[in-house]
Amino acid sequence: MAIASVVLDIQTRSLESAYSYLVPDALEKEVGVGATVLVTFGRRPAVGYVVAKSSELADGVDPSKLRAIEQVLEPSAFDETAAELALWISREYACPAVAAIRLFLPPGSLPKAKKAEDGSWTLTPSHLGKLENRWVGLSESGKDFTPRADAYRQRELVDALSKGPLRLSELKATLPGVASTLRTLEKRGVVELFEGEAEPIRQEATTLGSAHAPLPERLTKGQAHALTAISRALGRGDGGVVLVDGVTGSGKTEVYLEAIEAALALGRGAIVLVPEISLTPQTLGRFRSRFGDEVALMHSRLTPAERRQQWMAVSAGKARVVVGARSALFCPVKDLGLVVIDEEHEFTYKQEQAPRYHARDVAAKLVQLKRASLVLGSATPSLESLKRCEDGEFLGSRWERVRMPERATGALLPNVTLVDLRGTHTEGSTVFSPELADALRETHRAGEKAVLLINRRGFSPFLICEDCGCVPECPHCSSSLTYHAKRRELVCHSCGSIWPLKPWPDPTSLCPHCGSRYLRAPGVGTERVEGEVRGLLPDAEVIRMDADTTSGAGAHQRLLERFDATPGAVLVGTQMIAKGLDFPEVTLVGVVNADTSLKLPDFRSAERTFDLLEQVTGRAGRGERPGRVIIQSYWSTHPAVACVASKDRESFVRAELALREEAQYPPYVRLANITASGADPRRVESTIAELSGRLREAAPTAGWQVVGPAECLRAKIRDRHRHHVLVKAPLGAPLGEALFNLARGLGGPGVSLAIDVDAYEVL
Ligand code: ADP
Ligand code: ZN
Ligand code: ZN
Repeated sequence: MAIASVVLDIQTRSLESAYSYLVPDALEKEVGVGATVLVTFGRRPAVGYVVAKSSELADGVDPSKLRAIEQVLEPSAFDETAAELALWISREYACPAVAAIRLFLPPGSLPKAKKAEDGSWTLTPSHLGKLENRWVGLSESGKDFTPRADAYRQRELVDALSKGPLRLSELKATLPGVASTLRTLEKRGVVELFEGEAEPIRQEATTLGSAHAPLPERLTKGQAHALTAISRALGRGDGGVVLVDGVTGSGKTEVYLEAIEAALALGRGAIVLVPEISLTPQTLGRFRSRFGDEVALMHSRLTPAERRQQWMAVSAGKARVVVGARSALFCPVKDLGLVVIDEEHEFTYKQEQAPRYHARDVAAKLVQLKRASLVLGSATPSLESLKRCEDGEFLGSRWERVRMPERATGALLPNVTLVDLRGTHTEGSTVFSPELADALRETHRAGEKAVLLINRRGFSPFLICEDCGCVPECPHCSSSLTYHAKRRELVCHSCGSIWPLKPWPDPTSLCPHCGSRYLRAPGVGTERVEGEVRGLLPDAEVIRMDADTTSGAGAHQRLLERFDATPGAVLVGTQMIAKGLDFPEVTLVGVVNADTSLKLPDFRSAERTFDLLEQVTGRAGRGERPGRVIIQSYWSTHPAVACVASKDRESFVRAELALREEAQYPPYVRLANITASGADPRRVESTIAELSGRLREAAPTAGWQVVGPAECLRAKIRDRHRHHVLVKAPLGAPLGEALFNLARGLGGPGVSLAIDVDAYEVL
């Protein structure tokens, strides 16, 4: 009789709650790795997942003591390598194995078993919602339809469909608010909706010749280099990593398409991770036009039923290319040969809830296990990836970097000017230097468009009392309240609490500390910048885009539509405008204050600032007219600011790596952040003190450095007090498992403990 190792779906205090069960002969065929089974644990029925199956018993186990698997609830959802990867994630990121295994289950599976009348058990079907099976395509006459110049959404839609039909569900997910545009165009006979499975539309490739025979002579030199490196890695099949370090517009997406083509030609599948914000219908259309129905989409805005349908198509081997956010990594692609991570430096690839994995590192492990290859792409690669490429190796895999420094279309990169704000006392405007003010006027006069970045929403990020100097704070969180002038409110951006203020300035707006009526709003947020632009350019269309103006469905698209339609318009926004905007008439990009993110006491703040500035710079001059960028800063000598202006990323990387090495931060060490939080500050403090004691005891043997404990910078969030301790460990050290074991027995009711290995958020 075979033995199955089953991870139980129960609350557990250990990482791997796997138990041995006998596989009855009747179930021999059905019970494979990845199956969901029903067993008895103690006296109760329990759901579990088979992670291994063997014909031999481990030494010293008495088979007569083993219980048998009772029933198979769901067929196999993952294979042996996936099981191995799940157990690795559990050890690596200090989360129970079952939490990692759930990542691999089909969307909408609920691990709850229910007894039927006849005594058998089934998994409770979760409410998955309706399945949308319709497709949208251009009609015969629609192929000649040209939308009006100001109909931005129609243009996006027609552009996306020009390469072939798309599923209605995926259009709705990637273009929120598309429904009304669709209705309009359907009435005018431009688009058609049709039921069921569309014909596989494996068309001719778009730019680089036929789908099966790429024309290398039309690739840029950088693209050719990148593809050679990728084919070599594919050929070796040794889990190699190729970092494609290419400026925006250098043709990285074309490289991915060619690489996937190469993998498919070898009979192997591919997974492409894209930050969800970049997953526009155009991007999806590029994949569909190349690989037709073989593409599955994994997007958080799809309904569970739709995600489940996509997952099933992948599992059945019908879809061999998965495009999506982080979770696409766990789809059961047959014969996986290639994983692509676009914008690999994006922090969204780090999951901030348990299991707190990093998609880049999980992907590197996955391709190692599958003997596949990993392609990372970015215009600003992470310091982690750059260092690994410099070393040529990381955890047993080969890492190499290919540069693509030129735009594929030959367009020039914009000109960048730095304005040092120190000592400038601007007249009238508190926000714009004379240079930026002049540039805004000129751009508007020429009927061209401008984009202004200010990475803070609201009018002023804090108020200050002119009499006693106090700054009103949220009573539930240790953060200052942001002043929103239009709504006349003080808002906590941490917990969302709101305090209405009387009309401003108003004698009843009293300092909570001393009662003074003189509360001043000295900081700069999007709302204030919006007001200042209106003052400077009274007849310009000024559009503000931040979390406050884009909360409604389709609001984001409507604002872009207005920006697109109005000559001389100015767009003011937070970092959400830094990505993906592609309007040829934008000739000016202004960064109102480059320092906002630089001041955070977080070792990654310089890297974040550089990435943001570099990205927003790429929004200028995408059309025929050259673009210019003006960056205002009080800290213009800081490499994160100065090197954007001098277009010298290597110097920034050198300077930043030197600092990280000196202070012993990633990518030179692993860093874990363990946070205790709870309502009772004394219990939080004693928990973290106890843990720190255990860590310090273990540190000498483990080669760790323990920093803290200390109160978190955000010491209170929603009335929960927070303390943390940091652990630095050598690269490759088994940190997660060790921390999990040391923290055992701590926390409990009232105090929760979060272990974040390879932490990105340390505030
Ligand atoms: P990235 O992903 O690096 O931003 P894309 O792959 O989107 O770049 O390419 C930018 C633009 O250049 C696209 O319009 C694309 O069609 C075009 N392009 C890409 N490769 C080539 C090439 N070899 N020759 C001409 N145009 C190209
Ligand atoms: Zn006061
Ligand atoms: Zn709050």
